[in-house]
Amino acid sequence: MKRVFSSHNLVLAHHSRNLLEAEGSETEMRNQILSSAMGELPPAECQAEVWVLREDEAARAETVLRNSFSRKDEPAWTCRCGERCEGQFTQCWRCGTTRPG
Ligand SMILES: [Zn+2]
Repeated sequence: MKRVFSSHNLVLAHHSRNLLEAEGSETEMRNQILSSAMGELPPAECQAEVWVLREDEAARAETVLRNSFSRKDEPAWTCRCGERCEGQFTQCWRCGTTRPG
C-alpha cells in the first residue's frame, strides 16, 4: 500500500481515485469520513487520502495524477487560500480550488 494523494478536499480526493481506477489501479480511500464530518478544515492527519494497493503502481499513479492536474506553459498563480501554485497546476494542491480564470 502506498499513499499517492492527500487533500482536505474530499471531492478532489474522490476525483483522483476515479482517475486511478480508470487507469486500472486498485485504490483505497482513507479518512474520508473524518473529512466530510467536519465543517472546518481538518488537521493534516485528517486529510482524505488515496492509496494504491500495489506499491509498484504508485509511480504510475502519481504520474496519472500529476498529468491530470497540470497544464503546461501557464503562469504561476495565487489561490484564494494564499497558496502560490506553479503554472502547471490547474488546481490548488493545498485546498483543491480550481484556478480562477
Ligand atoms: Zn488553495
